[in-house]
Amino acid sequence: MRERSSVVERDGSYTWFERAKSVIAGGVNSPARSFRAVGGDPPVVMDRGEGAWLIDVDGNRYIDYLAAFGPLILGHSHPQVVEAVRQAMAEGPLLGTPHPSEIRLAEELVRAVQGLEQVRLTTTGTEAVMSAVRLARAFTGRTKVIKFEGAYHGHSDAMLVKAGSGASTIGTADSLGVPQGVTQDVVSLPYNDIERLEEVLSRIGDQVACVLTEPIVGNMGIVNPAPGYLQKMADLTHKAGALLIFDEVITAFRFHYGSAGALLGVIPDLYAMGKIIGGGLPAGAYGGRRDIMDYVAPLGGMFQAGTLAGNPLSSVAGLATLQVLREENPYPRMDRLANDLATALLHLAARHGLVASVNRAGSGFTLFFGTETVQNYTQAQQADAGQFAAFHRLMLNEGVYLAPSRYEAWFVSAQHGPDEIERTVQAADRAMAHIMQ
Ligand code: PLP
Repeated sequence: MRERSSVVERDGSYTWFERAKSVIAGGVNSPARSFRAVGGDPPVVMDRGEGAWLIDVDGNRYIDYLAAFGPLILGHSHPQVVEAVRQAMAEGPLLGTPHPSEIRLAEELVRAVQGLEQVRLTTTGTEAVMSAVRLARAFTGRTKVIKFEGAYHGHSDAMLVKAGSGASTIGTADSLGVPQGVTQDVVSLPYNDIERLEEVLSRIGDQVACVLTEPIVGNMGIVNPAPGYLQKMADLTHKAGALLIFDEVITAFRFHYGSAGALLGVIPDLYAMGKIIGGGLPAGAYGGRRDIMDYVAPLGGMFQAGTLAGNPLSSVAGLATLQVLREENPYPRMDRLANDLATALLHLAARHGLVASVNRAGSGFTLFFGTETVQNYTQAQQADAGQFAAFHRLMLNEGVYLAPSRYEAWFVSAQHGPDEIERTVQAADRAMAHIMQ
């Protein structure tokens, strides 16, 4: 493996990004890929992935902790996934009819995910959440949705709403172009604050169609639920006659072979899933109780569709990924490596005189600079953006690719080993020393 110098040449990336900017809005096809949150440097343009590594267009190699924002639990180009996709491609990537691989994937999801009695495959996590919310509204005949501040649930209009001030039940959108008619039915509350949820449900509970949350939050950095929080949330939600939806787009199959809800002992009425279940190809799914799924067209009156939904390529990539996870059970090993790395990072931070904290769930964790506890979005926002940006840049030059935002997770994949972890620790040691110079 080529060793890196501390000054990395990225001329190819600069050239490609100049081209990108002239034809793609902002040069990126998803804003999370931009480097704006970490100082605005052009992002690195990657050529390919190999196992736990990314290789850029200039040939520089990076240990990958992005995992493409979560799907790549098996690392890049796992041979079983590649072979499954190659074969499916040869047999026709899209048929527009029912076919065995989508049915097999649905069967496997129903088998593995507790409380998932029926499922509908979609093409993205955004659609999965959007459809689950529509279904909750159809089933309950109610309109209001409760979600939590700082939680990302995809980019459908209603999900781009954060809390209004005080106890307001009128949301305001984080994005231009979302009409007031949409935001007025979405209430965003602080995560891990059961009293606040109880208070709002006692006031407007009879109008609430669903309470939507990630069981373990992945999008304000990793934030674990306080003990008992999810169970109380489920109890209050059901007492109000509303449905509980777990957005497991990141968490399903990330921590064990099944849902995070099952791991934590709370089963929702509906799930939304994505990422890992598509094995790196476009995929999502929503589902849950059969009596609720009966409302979905063509059986029921809740319409949802998709030309590419359940396509053969995504289905076989998802199936191959799940098969490897089921047969090889890489979870304990990934957890151990993530724990080793997170613990070492905390020790290093202390040694270099940096205030830092880590939230970890299994193989995913977030290192927050400048703050000792993060249990909600307000606390996550207090993390030091400048220190993270400096750390991100220094780690990149050390050959370690972190998500370009202080609100994202580091994901350890099944392809990471002790060597990658050790190299990362050494890189972090030098990066933190540099920050404190
Ligand atoms: N829900 C969660 C928890 C997510 O993290 C994401 C994406 O990051 C989504 C939904 C949206 O998924 P997609 O990007 O596939 O539309």
